[in-house]
Amino acid sequence: MSELRDLYQEVILDHYKQPRNFGALDGASHHADGHNPLCGDAVTVSLTVADGKVVDAHFEGSGCAISMASASLMTEAVKGRSEAEIRAMFERFHVGLTTSDEMAAMDALEPLEKLAVFGGVREYPVRVKCATLPWHTLIAALDHATKPVKTE
Ligand code: ZN
Repeated sequence: MSELRDLYQEVILDHYKQPRNFGALDGASHHADGHNPLCGDAVTVSLTVADGKVVDAHFEGSGCAISMASASLMTEAVKGRSEAEIRAMFERFHVGLTTSDEMAAMDALEPLEKLAVFGGVREYPVRVKCATLPWHTLIAALDHATKPVKTE
């Protein structure tokens, strides 16, 4: 189990040190800002949406390793997916990180592949907001929210 945990940590650190899809997105059709005052994480998500599908996803911002790695893995995971699929992914991700039922958490996270690395965050409730901030921001972007997202 601890080996598995090390592996998860490795994936998170890799995405923190070398974030994927980091930077502005030319011609983005959707964007939103998110802020987690509890930790100081700030993230902007930019999307190109066409025919109900997220064609491209980028993020900018700064924050802790969990928030930045979550944003990086999220942008990879959502590309090419429909809005409905993405909303369903976030539902699973949220359940997987917040339920007190370990089996339910594993069931929720299993189909999310790489995103399951954040399952360990369940044990650290303060960190859940770091991991979910990019997702809340992405959903706000899809909803064309006009106000920045705040986790508090
Ligand atoms: Zn954080």
